[in-house]
Amino acid sequence: MKYFCVVGNPIAHSISPKLHNLGYKLLNIDCAYSRMLLENGDDLKKNLLKCKYDGANITAPYKEIAFNICDEVFGIAQKIKAVNTIIIKNDKLYGYNTDAPGFLKSIEEFKNIKNVLILGAGGTAKAISFALREQNFNVSLLNRSKERLEFFKNENFTTFTYDSDLPYNFDLIVNTTSAGLDNEQLPAPKEMLLKVIGNAKYGVDVIYNNQTAFLKLFMKSDKAYKNGSDMLFFQGILAFEHFTNTKLNDNNIIQIRQLLGF
Ligand code: NDP
Repeated sequence: MKYFCVVGNPIAHSISPKLHNLGYKLLNIDCAYSRMLLENGDDLKKNLLKCKYDGANITAPYKEIAFNICDEVFGIAQKIKAVNTIIIKNDKLYGYNTDAPGFLKSIEEFKNIKNVLILGAGGTAKAISFALREQNFNVSLLNRSKERLEFFKNENFTTFTYDSDLPYNFDLIVNTTSAGLDNEQLPAPKEMLLKVIGNAKYGVDVIYNNQTAFLKLFMKSDKAYKNGSDMLFFQGILAFEHFTNTKLNDNNIIQIRQLLGF
């Protein structure tokens, strides 16, 4: 039997235990998945090894710490410097990031995208911007303050703040800020948003548990949009495949989603 968990603070809201345990049951895999509330990120490695987990998902605010404690890091996680999936073998930690490919999977139905505007410049913006650039999209970022944009400037992304002369030719607008998470705030000045949305084809808000003020602007337009629940679901499916060394078929994925009711 193998044991996995999701670690974060807070952690009670996480859908990961339900998603993974449904998958084990459906495919008859001998694994169990629980959750761990961690108060202090410095204890992450010690706790994972002490409890003899075979792997873990890591969520906010510990994805950067997870990157630092891994013995080896693979794929896009190397660029983002954030890990959300760890496999443990012989006390060695191997790190991956499934948020980035989970996002790409979630926008597969959006066609003919070339230019993307990401709102925000935090950890999620990093994951999504590198994932999109790897797929040859032109990626720009708009953020409230300058500081966090420095990282993206140095990586040769186009960056804007609210006082920039923003072009309005973006096909897809992605909100990665936490504006709207538990309030009615917009992730950028309304005038700016109305102009970019007016010229866009699609919108995504990575917030998954709320119909945000940003998405409400899309609702009033004729553009297709979605919240972050597909991204969240697919990052979980990709982690499941890493942990169990399986490849789920479309039928399995549809069944898990239905059972999850998410
Ligand atoms: P970070 O703290 O790393 O970054 C937050 C960003 O939001 C910063 O750029 C910050 O700007 C900006 N911001 C915060 N408040 C406001 C505001 N009122 N107006 C404008 N900008 C604001 O956060 P994360 O990247 O870790 O998470 C961001 C969101 O993504 C969260 O809501 C989280 O729930 C969601 N998420 C969803 C996932 C999914 O699977 N669907 C996966 C991971 C995260 P500044 O630099 O100026 O402070």
